[in-house]
Amino acid sequence: MFPTAIAGSLPKPAWLAETEKLWPKWKAEGPDLAQAKLDATLLWIKAQEDAGLDVIGDGEMSRQHFVHGFLEQVEGIDFEHRVEMGIRNDRYKAMVPQVVAPLRLKGRVHAAEAQFLRAHTTRKIKFTLPGPMTIVDTVADRFYGDKLKLAFAFAELLNQEALALQADGVDIIQFDEPAFNVYMAEAADWGVRALERAALGLHEAGLASGRACTTAVHICYGYGIQANIDWKNSLGPQWRQYEQVLPALAASSIDQVSLECIHSQVPAELMALLKGKDVMVGVIDVASDQIETAEEVADTIGRALQFVPRDRLIACTNCGLAPMSRAVAEAKLAALAQGAALARQRYA
Ligand code: ZN
Repeated sequence: MFPTAIAGSLPKPAWLAETEKLWPKWKAEGPDLAQAKLDATLLWIKAQEDAGLDVIGDGEMSRQHFVHGFLEQVEGIDFEHRVEMGIRNDRYKAMVPQVVAPLRLKGRVHAAEAQFLRAHTTRKIKFTLPGPMTIVDTVADRFYGDKLKLAFAFAELLNQEALALQADGVDIIQFDEPAFNVYMAEAADWGVRALERAALGLHEAGLASGRACTTAVHICYGYGIQANIDWKNSLGPQWRQYEQVLPALAASSIDQVSLECIHSQVPAELMALLKGKDVMVGVIDVASDQIETAEEVADTIGRALQFVPRDRLIACTNCGLAPMSRAVAEAKLAALAQGAALARQRYA
């Protein structure tokens, strides 16, 4: 009951990259950087295990940013000439690469860190990829000229990498789609379809090899950066963005949905829209350095239990912890595990 997992990212150690930044500069290059990424991955595998988490991730140590980490291995993208673009409906500006030619994978994207993760823990492992709609919202298109075409082109590439990750022994593949909370109508219309394209055949291919992985999607209100805090303050007393997207996800082939709960204005009853799905309930706030108590975490699980069956509830963080300090992130991982343990006692 109530297994625990993180949404995805964790803070990079100061010797790997700049700290408390969303697009941090690396502190090494070449083979040294490759080694440093894996060293940091090992550190966080151990920290997650020590905290007592059930599902272990790589903390996204090997990518500079959750979207651009994938794009770096895609042919047809010009990283040299980045342009400034308003992303998430102009919530903030970012320097983004441009799509300039047909998209193709140069090769495996995350083989090194996924295989490393598998080799260093016996617990279940989860691996995150950006979702097609969120990628489309984080690049400048100078070639396809059509959002849908571009999204499905990315979905095919994501699918190739996802199938390979499954073969690497990954148990859960999660697509991150914060854009679903921004373009709700489009998400329900084609975003979920593109997501299903990215996850196509995972079960079938996995069953054939005896390694069928679970599929998940993470939808959040973003990292705890100022632009997101300002945006959330503009959303009014009730955040109902999920209401438009969750029914489409409930009808989809995706197994698990990760969403925000603690300290968020999302009405808890919206989780009832996810009937038949596992729900990764956010019980750790990523926009505050205050460490949750076990009681707070257990209370949040209790609130979610009104709308999510107990065998469907996974205790998770609201979003990634990348921009936080290492000490705060470590304390939050412990709070997550302790809170879930308390909830198991309370609601057994
Ligand atoms: Zn998130």
